[in-house]
Amino acid sequence: MKSRRNFLQKLTLSAVSLPLIPRFNSISFSGWQKSASQDTMLRVAIMGLGSYGTRVAEAMQDSKKAKLVGVISGTPSKISDWQKKYDIPPKNCYNYENFDAIKDNPDIDAVYIITPNALHHPQTLRVAAAGKHVICEKPMALNAEQGREMVEACKQAGVKLLVGYRMHFEANTLEVIRMREAGEFGEIKFFQGLSGFKIGDPSQWRLNKELAGGGAMMDIGIYSINGARYMIGKEPIWVTAQETKTDPVKFKEGVDETILFQFGFPEGIVASCLSTYSMGNLDRFFLNGTQGFAEMQPSTGYGPIKGKTHKGPLENPHITHQTVQMDRMAEIILEGDTAKVPVDGEEGLKDLIIIDTIYKAVASGRKELIDLS
Ligand code: NAD
Repeated sequence: MKSRRNFLQKLTLSAVSLPLIPRFNSISFSGWQKSASQDTMLRVAIMGLGSYGTRVAEAMQDSKKAKLVGVISGTPSKISDWQKKYDIPPKNCYNYENFDAIKDNPDIDAVYIITPNALHHPQTLRVAAAGKHVICEKPMALNAEQGREMVEACKQAGVKLLVGYRMHFEANTLEVIRMREAGEFGEIKFFQGLSGFKIGDPSQWRLNKELAGGGAMMDIGIYSINGARYMIGKEPIWVTAQETKTDPVKFKEGVDETILFQFGFPEGIVASCLSTYSMGNLDRFFLNGTQGFAEMQPSTGYGPIKGKTHKGPLENPHITHQTVQMDRMAEIILEGDTAKVPVDGEEGLKDLIIIDTIYKAVASGRKELIDLS
């Protein structure tokens, strides 16, 4: 089994230069894929054992294709708790100083980085240098420059870089995308995205510019940016944005509290979005076309995602998002599969370019062009 895994990993490397390999791969190994066993699972180490890392670890217990096998943490007591809970051997435990040694560990395929935003860039570069696939939480980095370096580093190392965009695998979201592609909404005209919550503890890293890279936009506003793109199915070409701040003590310089932003898309399609740390339970998407609509509320929370279209309610059953995500990411990494809505580094980079441009539009007060090339 080990040699098959090595062969698949080599296939992943060759896929950089041979775009047809994934298709060949899935046909040739289709019989084997159906009998996925423990040995064929994506073996994942989680870096950052905080609140979201804990959620991902729990969800991975139900994954049929990905398995938690290692941890990277700066807190020894957390490591021993996780070892007991998830039966993790000592040889698969690392701290932030020594995790480069993961390169000599053949029992770990991928590292899932779930640390504060500012650490995603340096940690991705180190994991890629260790020859392991990277799954990185959103936002992929603090800005587009870092994002480009991450994409390049993973390409050079021949490893995959995926971003934790769990909504790209969510069934009701995919149903709205299917309906749009089938023309069931007619011509798309407008999208509205509202993303926000009331943030608590003022001392948390999310309100620290150095660690978060900004404020609500980096954390929650990104859902409306990403959502506008996958709901409309096109890339925005310009943005205007306005910031308001009611609490400059809690939301210091460079930490945005509330930003309203508007996108222009090709064919005159427009979007209006809100990103905020000061309004509770704001989680709503609305897509409007010439022949119909979709509205989702909640639209990006942990679910169940609820909503309706002009044809009736969205009724796909809820499955824990992170379980589906890990199953699908294992298929992408080990089997060369692709996602309907991409979850790769280039996708993460697009959101970072757009965030950079939104901040630029806030500062200039003008309409700014978005250059995704
Ligand atoms: P958290 O504060 O609960 O956990 C962060 C972890 O990083 C902690 O275990 C902390 O000890 C560790 N850490 C390592 N170095 C650190 C440092 N220098 N300063 C502070 N903490 C340090 O945060 P979280 O909610 O788990 O968020 C982590 C990442 O996951 C963020 O990038 C966030 O945007 C992302 N996230 C994604 C989703 C999603 O739905 N995709 C949801 C929540 C969070």
